[in-house]
Amino acid sequence: MGCAEVIALDEVRARKHWTTLRQRLHERFDRWLDRLESALPEGEPTLGQVSAAIWALRQQLTGGVAETIVHHTHQEEQRRQHMPCPTCARLLPARGPVQRCVETMIGAVELERPYFYCRVCRAGTYPLDAMLGVRTGRMQPDVQQAAVDLATEVPYETAAMLFGRLSGITISSERMHTFTHQVAEGLSVVEVAPSREEIDRRVGQVAAGRFRRPVLVLGIDGAYVPSRPESARGRRPGPARHRARRARWRHEWREAKGFRFYLLDGERIVHVLSWHQVHNEQELGEALQQVKDAGLIPEDTVRLCVVCDGAEWIWKHVQALFPHACQVLDYYHCAEYLHKVAKAQYGPTVQALEWVEATLTRLYMRKMGTVLGGLRRMQPTSAEALKAIDNCWVYLYAHRGRTDYGRLRRGGYPLGSGGMESANKFICHVRLKRSGAWWYEANSNQMLALRCAKYNGTFHQVFTRSQHQQAES
Ligand SMILES: [Zn+2]
Repeated sequence: MGCAEVIALDEVRARKHWTTLRQRLHERFDRWLDRLESALPEGEPTLGQVSAAIWALRQQLTGGVAETIVHHTHQEEQRRQHMPCPTCARLLPARGPVQRCVETMIGAVELERPYFYCRVCRAGTYPLDAMLGVRTGRMQPDVQQAAVDLATEVPYETAAMLFGRLSGITISSERMHTFTHQVAEGLSVVEVAPSREEIDRRVGQVAAGRFRRPVLVLGIDGAYVPSRPESARGRRPGPARHRARRARWRHEWREAKGFRFYLLDGERIVHVLSWHQVHNEQELGEALQQVKDAGLIPEDTVRLCVVCDGAEWIWKHVQALFPHACQVLDYYHCAEYLHKVAKAQYGPTVQALEWVEATLTRLYMRKMGTVLGGLRRMQPTSAEALKAIDNCWVYLYAHRGRTDYGRLRRGGYPLGSGGMESANKFICHVRLKRSGAWWYEANSNQMLALRCAKYNGTFHQVFTRSQHQQAES
C-alpha cells in the first residue's frame, strides 16, 4: 500500500473533474451556437457578416467560458452553509445566495455566492470574492488597466469612445478619469523609476564591448503645460439658472520642470529615467535627491554628465547632488546667447555672424580667457549693446568650466540636450497639449507621472502598486 495508489486515485478524481467541466463548457458553447445561428444572415454570408456576428457575441462566449470554469472550480465555496466569523469566531449561517456581475476584458461574469453576516460584529463577508480576488466595483483590474493605458495616450472622451468600440465594454469618460486618478494618486519619482537592476541591465547593454564606461546624461529642462487655476473649480455665485455656463478664469501656461537620465550609445539614445511635474525648483531638487538616495544612479559604472541651459538653480542642484558629474553648458543655448550679443553690437551683418563663429571656435579650443578678455575690450555701439556685452561676460564667466566643447566631444560627451526635447515631447506635449484642454495642476501632474511611467517602462508596475493599495484599503 503506498503513495502510488493514492496519487492514482487523485489523478482519477482530477480527470473526472475536468471531464465534467468540459461537458459543461460544451453545453455552454452549444447555447452560444444557438445564439450565433440566429444572428447570422440567411443563405451564404460574406466573411464580413460572419465576422461581425461573432464579434458582437464574442464576449458572451469568452465571459461564459470563464463563468463556467469559476462555478465549477468553486462549487464547495458556493454551497458553503456555515463559516466562523473572522473576528469573533461565532459560527455564521449562510444567507443568500447573492448575485453579482463583474466586468472583465473577456466579458461579463455572473457570480452567485453566499453571504455571511455577524450581528455581534456587525460585519458581513463574501468568502468567494476574496478567494477569486474580485475587486469592489464592477470593472475588474484588467479593464481598469486597459482603460488607463488608453486614457494616457488620447483625451478622455476619445479614449472612452475607442475603448467601447474595440473592447465592447462601455466606460464613460468620467470613469476613465476616476481610474486614472486611482492609479496616479500620490506617485513619486521613485515609484515610476525602473529598478536599479533594470538600470544596470541597460547600462550593461551599452557598455558591452566598449573600452570606456558609457556616458549617462542628465538633462534638466522645462516644458509648458496649458493650465487653469484652482479657482476655476469654484461655483459661481447666484442662482444656478443665471450662472454663466462659462467659468470666469483665465488660462495660463505653467512650466513642467523635469529631468531625464539617458545613455549615449553611439548615435542612439537609451532611455533610463524621466520625471516631469508642474512644480518649483526646490521640488525638482527634492525629486533628484530621492533618485540619488534610492541608489538608482550607478555612478561607478558610468561617466555621469549633466547638460543644461544657463539657469542657475539647475546647476546648484547638480553641484550638490552629483559633484563629480561632468558639466556641459548646452552648446545651442550658448550659441543663441552669443547671437544676441552680436546682433546688439553689430546689427544684422556678416560681421555679427563672424564674431559668433570665432567666439564659438575659441570656446571649442579651450580659450575662455581670450573670449572673456575680448568681451571686456569690446567698444559698445549702443546702450543696448553695452548691456548685452555685460550680460554675456557674466554668463560665460559663470559657466567657464562647462564650455570645453572640443575636449567634451573627444570624450564622447554630448554638447546639447537634444535628448531632453524628445522626452518633453513624448511625456508632455503629446498628451497634455490638446486643443481646448486646460489642466488643473493636480490632474496635469498625475497625467505627467503616468506618462513618465510609460516612458520609463514601468506602467505595469505602477498599476500593480495601485491595485495593492486599493485592496488594502
Ligand atoms: Zn463576529
